Amino acid sequence: MSRLVVISNRVDVPKARGVAGAQGGLSGALNSALKQNRGIWFGWSGEDVEEFTGHLHFQRHDGVTTATVDLATQDVEEYYNGYANSTLWPLFHYRIDLTEYEREFGVGYERVNENFASSVLPLIDQDDMVWVHDYHLIPLGERLRSKGLKNRMGFFLHTPWPPTRLLVSLPFHERLVDAMLHYDLIGFQCDEWLESFLHYCRKELGADVNEQTGEVTLNGHTSIARAYPIGIDYDHFMSKGETGEAKQAQQRLLSSTRHRLAMIGVDRLDYSKGLPERIDGIGRFFDTYPDRVRELIYIQIAPPSREGIGSYQDIRSLLEQKTGQINGARSEVDIVPIRYVNKGQSQEELFGFYRASKIGLVTPLRDGMNLVAKEYVAAQDPEDPGVLILSRFAGAAQQLQDALLVNPHSPDDVAHNIRIALDMPLAERKERWERMHQSVKEENVQRWTQNFTNDLAAVAPSVQ
Ligand code: UDP
Repeated sequence: MSRLVVISNRVDVPKARGVAGAQGGLSGALNSALKQNRGIWFGWSGEDVEEFTGHLHFQRHDGVTTATVDLATQDVEEYYNGYANSTLWPLFHYRIDLTEYEREFGVGYERVNENFASSVLPLIDQDDMVWVHDYHLIPLGERLRSKGLKNRMGFFLHTPWPPTRLLVSLPFHERLVDAMLHYDLIGFQCDEWLESFLHYCRKELGADVNEQTGEVTLNGHTSIARAYPIGIDYDHFMSKGETGEAKQAQQRLLSSTRHRLAMIGVDRLDYSKGLPERIDGIGRFFDTYPDRVRELIYIQIAPPSREGIGSYQDIRSLLEQKTGQINGARSEVDIVPIRYVNKGQSQEELFGFYRASKIGLVTPLRDGMNLVAKEYVAAQDPEDPGVLILSRFAGAAQQLQDALLVNPHSPDDVAHNIRIALDMPLAERKERWERMHQSVKEENVQRWTQNFTNDLAAVAPSVQ
């Protein structure tokens, strides 16, 4: 079996993790894939230096070799904080109001992709499969091809793909997608993002698109585009639930909420997660059902994220202001209706908190997948499961149709569904949970990895 070379912005093997908390859903998934395939994982070390040298740092841990490079300070500003997180991230989450279109960001993005390609190329053997991840590295495949790499190359996008009408607001959008079509296999989290991508390729690039097979042909090269919904590492996550830390966390939450039901949200502090809108929905619930204020306590775990970017600082102050307003208006000496925790929690603690919460409130305005929704389902007590309220705009909604699906922009809809969740009889809770649980358990990260790598292994090698 050929080796797997994974390339992503950051590498994150268990040993390299410092404090518990704001890890994206990506790292666990990739570690599993690499362990199975004797892989190498290449990316940015997270360090910045005055000038890029291309010097590789190697580490080996638990069967996975990592190779990292330091970036120049200017690269971090233009490529990471700039083009990736201030241009592509908001645009891909449909937020053209927050998208920054600075020319030097694009220049820095192309420079880092070129430098990554030069650095990783010597590490790739003839039979290796290359799997590139996420919006930071869209042009990397094209850069590798330009240096003569013939290997099978796949790309997976962990975010949504925006509708064509929004994407065309990006200067040089054709160049970006043209570069992306140098990959042999292109994966998306769900059908909606895939459909938008195929539409763009046909409409804006004039590519030959087969909607049935996902084949996209441009300039003599055919890529296959498909949806591969990512899952959680189910067995690993369930094993967290057996630990003392998880049980203690569950008890801590239960005893501190006493006769009230806990409702929980767990999100990086990111504007895509719909946090101020969610607080508005909770406020609407309290306004509409004032006699039920004492029944419920909402716990929001929101570790900080990308703090160097202005829009992230803005979302934090807005959330704090809205939470403060509701707590000011609705607190009694013995109740504070919203608890807001601005730091990351370990997976063990999260398991215990999910288990102790009778409602999981997951309402992103737009999300590639959303693994928190799947973890909440996994952590429930089968005899007395809680209710998941889920945004219809999260990729996860395609699989978790038995959640209460809501429009996160509508405070009335969120409030109404909180009321439905509170009153849902046990039989209905069980019925909904069992179907969701089956999907979370079966469509796990191992299956995701296997589906993608099997398909990548099956594509014809590049003859460009
Ligand atoms: N997470 C965590 N500690 C926290 C908050 C989140 O470990 O305090 C984890 C969470 O369990 C989940 C991941 O971070 O596995 C978030 O993934 P998701 O797909 O929901 O969102 P993303 O942050 O990748 O946009």
